[in-house]
Amino acid sequence: MNKELARIFFEIAAILDAGGESFKPQAYRKAARALLELAEDAALIYARGGLKAVEAIPGVGQSIGQKIEEYVLTGKIDYYRQLKRDFPVDLDEVAGVEGLGPKRAKILYEKLGVKNLRQLEAAARAGKVAPLFGFGPKSQANILQGIEFKKRSGGRFLLSEVFPAALDAKEKISALPQIARVEIAGSLRRAKETIGDVDLLAAPKLGAGAKDAAAIMDFFSTLAGIEKIWAKGPTKTSVRMAAGFDIDLRLVGEQSFGAAWQYFTGSKEHNIALRRLAIQKGFKLSEYGLFENDKMAAGKTEEEIYQKLGLDWIAPEMRENAGEIEAAQNGKLPRLLEYGSLKGDLHCHSNWSDGKNSIEELAAAAMAMGYEYLGIADHTHALKVAGGLDEDQLRQRNAEIDALNQKIRSQGKMFAVLKGCEANIDDDGGIDLDKGILGELDFVIAGVHMNFKMDAKKMTRRLVGAAKNPDIDIISHPTGRLLKERPAYELEIEKVFEVAKEHGAILEINAQPRRLDLKPLHVRGAIANGIKLAINTDAHRLAELEFARFGIAQARRGWATAGDIANTLPWPELKKILKRNQKRVN
Ligand SMILES: [Zn+2]
Ligand SMILES: [Zn+2]
Repeated sequence: MNKELARIFFEIAAILDAGGESFKPQAYRKAARALLELAEDAALIYARGGLKAVEAIPGVGQSIGQKIEEYVLTGKIDYYRQLKRDFPVDLDEVAGVEGLGPKRAKILYEKLGVKNLRQLEAAARAGKVAPLFGFGPKSQANILQGIEFKKRSGGRFLLSEVFPAALDAKEKISALPQIARVEIAGSLRRAKETIGDVDLLAAPKLGAGAKDAAAIMDFFSTLAGIEKIWAKGPTKTSVRMAAGFDIDLRLVGEQSFGAAWQYFTGSKEHNIALRRLAIQKGFKLSEYGLFENDKMAAGKTEEEIYQKLGLDWIAPEMRENAGEIEAAQNGKLPRLLEYGSLKGDLHCHSNWSDGKNSIEELAAAAMAMGYEYLGIADHTHALKVAGGLDEDQLRQRNAEIDALNQKIRSQGKMFAVLKGCEANIDDDGGIDLDKGILGELDFVIAGVHMNFKMDAKKMTRRLVGAAKNPDIDIISHPTGRLLKERPAYELEIEKVFEVAKEHGAILEINAQPRRLDLKPLHVRGAIANGIKLAINTDAHRLAELEFARFGIAQARRGWATAGDIANTLPWPELKKILKRNQKRVN
């Protein structure tokens, strides 16, 4: 019930936002987030202790507590129904279009009766949006662009949305006695930023028969979280998870497992090129194996297939037909950065700004991951919505870090908490901190957090300014895209690369699954320009430190080696290549 309630409260907050309310929406959002983090169901809490117990949930309080009670008892909330009656707009759809938001969605409803995306598109196409006060032709064009973007990204899921479920299914199936092997294939294995559906391949043990196959499929189709079964057969079963994506499980014989794994991993473009190469060499390549005159030449492993075709084995993250086949022919594949090879993370937010956890909790988690250092990069004061710190607050926070470092050293541990910040790049490439504090920090990250809508010329000048700025060591999420939400800024990134190289600025590969910014093409471009990159999680809570693997995947998709990534270095080495310290040497 907590999820349903949270959804209703988020929607109430959005409707109240649209009405121009200032404090109430925050209260509803706070309650919604509290509900999502509760281990116990709200209905059980109510059954256990009535209204008093519900009101005692942190972030809930009296008025919202009563609404939870009403929902538990009647299955509805009258206040919500009234709000919806007065304002029957699908805010998820309409307010979710880049540049709109609840308030403008309300104007569109009141003036044009727009309730959903379809009606919005029709109104914009008919030119009815531009004449409205506060909109204009540019805004109308932006809305149409935003709708296009929303349509294109629909039906795809972020890595973080599918990866845990896929791994869980893989592990559970692996544990079956009839199973020899299970692997993830498809775009998830290639670590694409967004995933359509999950492909799993399993090999039953040698000698397994139809009964075993049926048992495996029975087990798979009753896994927790499955909403419906599309198809269930002896070699393939497809299910829809409650989270919205599908998982396909295929059974293949061990003899052709490598061929099937290669085939179902894709990409389509890579496979087409590979099949063409096979034909040139007198083979036929399919999901069943590599054949020479109907005789199987390879198929059990991917390695032997690639080898028979005269290629080094190609890591799945590179299989895009973007030059990897030629490189594999010539023994020129890069030695990709390996998973687990980061020595630290330079970008996380503590509860001093908008993070969930204390610095000590974050440090303990980073130590448990085997890191040597963790950079705390709290927001700075221009970003008020994220609890940005001013110079005094940064000093207080730094004192806490100093004390913690002392404690860590006294325990004999080799680990350093680094004093950083994530400052805000203003329109000219400057940042929102006084010079005085900069020498008290170990490093400065800066990113664009407001005023995104600039033309390419201005935004390029802004980021070039940041790359030149001697006070900025690392530029966070350099292109600003949010997957499924908004495209990157208008930006000539090649110009930023040139200046970053010249001035020694490090660019970030932000590992947040909704960012994954830089994208692979830009990672390759940055590397070609000789720029150092940093893979940072931008964690706002402990669990997000694990996003590092998505950042590493992104770097591998951009052909990065360990040498390209600044935070594969121990801190004393990394320190030397920061802009602030290069300057002193020269
Ligand atoms: Zn940021
Ligand atoms: Zn951040």
